[in-house]
Amino acid sequence: MKKNTSIIAHLDMDAFFAAVEERDTPRFAGQPLVVGADPHRGRGVVSTANYPARRYGIRSAMPISQAWRRSENARLQGQPPVIFLSGNYKKYSLVSESIMAYIQTRIPLIEQTSVDEAYLDLTFTGSFATAQILCQEIKNYIARTQRLTASVGIGPNKLIAKIASDFQKPNGLTVVRPEKVIDFLNPLPLRAIPGVGPKTEQVLLQLGLKKVCDATQLPQSALESILGKWGEALFKKIHGQGSATLHAPAPPLSVGSQTTFPLDTLSAMYVVNQLFARCEQVFRHFNRHGFHSFRTVVVTARFNDFTTASSGRTLPRPANTLAKLKKSSLQLLLPFLDNRRNPQLRPLRLIGVRVENFN
Ligand SMILES: [Mg+2]
Repeated sequence: MKKNTSIIAHLDMDAFFAAVEERDTPRFAGQPLVVGADPHRGRGVVSTANYPARRYGIRSAMPISQAWRRSENARLQGQPPVIFLSGNYKKYSLVSESIMAYIQTRIPLIEQTSVDEAYLDLTFTGSFATAQILCQEIKNYIARTQRLTASVGIGPNKLIAKIASDFQKPNGLTVVRPEKVIDFLNPLPLRAIPGVGPKTEQVLLQLGLKKVCDATQLPQSALESILGKWGEALFKKIHGQGSATLHAPAPPLSVGSQTTFPLDTLSAMYVVNQLFARCEQVFRHFNRHGFHSFRTVVVTARFNDFTTASSGRTLPRPANTLAKLKKSSLQLLLPFLDNRRNPQLRPLRLIGVRVENFN
């Protein structure tokens, strides 16, 4: 393999929202299921359809009223009607966070593009074979800890990885090595190319262009005269050219953690213990982001009347130990427990701590 070949994976959870619902409600197993708008209000769209619902022709982004009609048609033919759910987006994002956090422990550079999709830069593995093993391990981890499946595509750039992740859904793992890119793309319908929607597909079909290999016969100028500016981009895509640059999110400007107590309290021992637990979590996140030191510590307190106060301190020198974080935040907390910052001795409802000014 050439030294400078990039290895990029695209990971896409299968029918993510619907899969989480099926996992958590055993009686949904095998039933057609749609997460999205309420069909009885008739407005809004399908967010996710599971595979049995897709067999009724129901797709993401379809108007919910149309999904309802397809379900009714199926029911009249003696098939099970679709279960419509409004969705628990908080739950889905917690599942997503835990999956992405795990991936980050295995892969230094990832670009998360939605709640259930991410590009992974696997160039560091040095070979497509090693990259494949790593992706299989990630799929196994997701299956074991979340009882969910993901489809993964691996290729020399983001475009090929994305098409490959879609190639064998659900629970797929498709590897397209650089020398196989053209063979992989040629037989695919043009619709499989990201960006080719129903409109472009129709224009191309009318010219007898159905598969990628039909369109690759044409020079770039021909595609440009058919599709305008988008013809140039499509020309590159059908020839397998794409970017291998991942855009990692900008590092945070602060790292914090807070907790709401089960009961409002002014017990110093309890509050200090809670504060130290928050400090430990902040310190873990601080390290995970690869920061070397912090200079500013801020403690926030919310009282039982919901007023909130913060107290911050910039240290004389940058610090990098948990002990320093605990000591500084304790000094900032104590005035909230007595008449210095809490003259009416209101019980506390929430505390938080954060660090800023990283190096
Ligand atoms: Mg998905």
